Amino acid sequence: MQESSNKVTSKVSSLLSSLLSSLLSSLLSSLLSSLLSSLLSSLLSSLLSRPVVQPVIQPVVQPVVQPVVQTVSQMVVVQNLPKCVPGQMLCPYCHTNVVTKIEYKIGPYTWLVCGLLGVFLCWPCCFIPFCVNDCKDVEHSCPSCSGIIHVHRRM
Ligand SMILES: [Zn+2]
Repeated sequence: MQESSNKVTSKVSSLLSSLLSSLLSSLLSSLLSSLLSSLLSSLLSSLLSRPVVQPVIQPVVQPVVQPVVQTVSQMVVVQNLPKCVPGQMLCPYCHTNVVTKIEYKIGPYTWLVCGLLGVFLCWPCCFIPFCVNDCKDVEHSCPSCSGIIHVHRRM
């Protein structure tokens, strides 16, 4: 008799346990599903409710109006003045860009060299500078209007 009762209790207990387990599993599954669904729905809603393009309103930085320092561009064109060879210059008379025509002129340097030669060397040599272009001033003139643009003085 006791054995049978034991058997019954064991059976009952097994049944109970199985029932419990099934119940628990079903409960868990339902809970999980509900949780998942809620999570999904919240995620979806959050995704859908998010505005697509958020216009970023930046504070417009007002450019500080500084006193504009006007660099006065001087009209004086600094030209590379030609020296002993013809150079390109802007003629101030006819306002054209010309290559200057050169002419050697006797200047103070020529006289100085002449004097030095006359004093320190034999005096007939003092005429040499008047024949050597390197001792004379160079006069640059315009080939079109023949105006003297620049005189390169050696001293
Ligand atoms: Zn000219």
